[in-house]
Amino acid sequence: MFGFLQKVGDYTKDAVSAASYITQGLSVTFDHLSRRPITVQYPYEKLIPSERYRGRIHFEFDKCIACEVCVRVCPINLPVVDWTMNKQTKKKELSNYSIDFGVCIFCGNCVEYCPTNCLSMTEEYELAAFDRHSLNFDNVALGRLPTSVTSDPAVVPLRELAYLPKGELDPHVVPATSPRAGKLPEQVLAELKAESNGGPGS
Ligand code: SF4
Ligand code: SF4
Repeated sequence: MFGFLQKVGDYTKDAVSAASYITQGLSVTFDHLSRRPITVQYPYEKLIPSERYRGRIHFEFDKCIACEVCVRVCPINLPVVDWTMNKQTKKKELSNYSIDFGVCIFCGNCVEYCPTNCLSMTEEYELAAFDRHSLNFDNVALGRLPTSVTSDPAVVPLRELAYLPKGELDPHVVPATSPRAGKLPEQVLAELKAESNGGPGS
């Protein structure tokens, strides 16, 4: 009889703790139901990278003097500068330049120290590839003009965190009735113009 009562007691304890776990799980679910989605519908919508974003490096072949400063300042001596000496002009002639983005850490040192500014960081971040060897960009690939989120007609650009009310840093506490995440650049521009014309917030 005592064993039976103990089993009933254990069973009841288990049932109560299971119910408490289910309630906890459902409370999280219901809490999220009342929040609005903040997901960016990539790749149809993309966040505009910040102004100083360090993306794929752009290279201008004609400006390069093959000084190899970029190699010396690179923490992993990554850029490959192929050059030959022109004995008549006594100047180096660049024949090929490459950077392997499968290895590059995008620190920006090479861009910072290049004496002729032939390197620049772009806002291009979509560098996924099936074969990592294809990330080794030669001077032709490096010279391609970068794509931009704002100039791509197939993409709706969103400005990061622009949807948050002033002073609010946590998107989860914003009511579900607020508009969805992200503002179009035109909306941001219109707001800035309204503010500069003496509108709200000026
Ligand atoms: S530092 Fe600039 S100019 Fe010199 S080799 Fe590198 S890319 Fe060319
Ligand atoms: S960004 Fe940094 S790691 Fe990449 S090539 Fe330039 S110096 Fe090297």
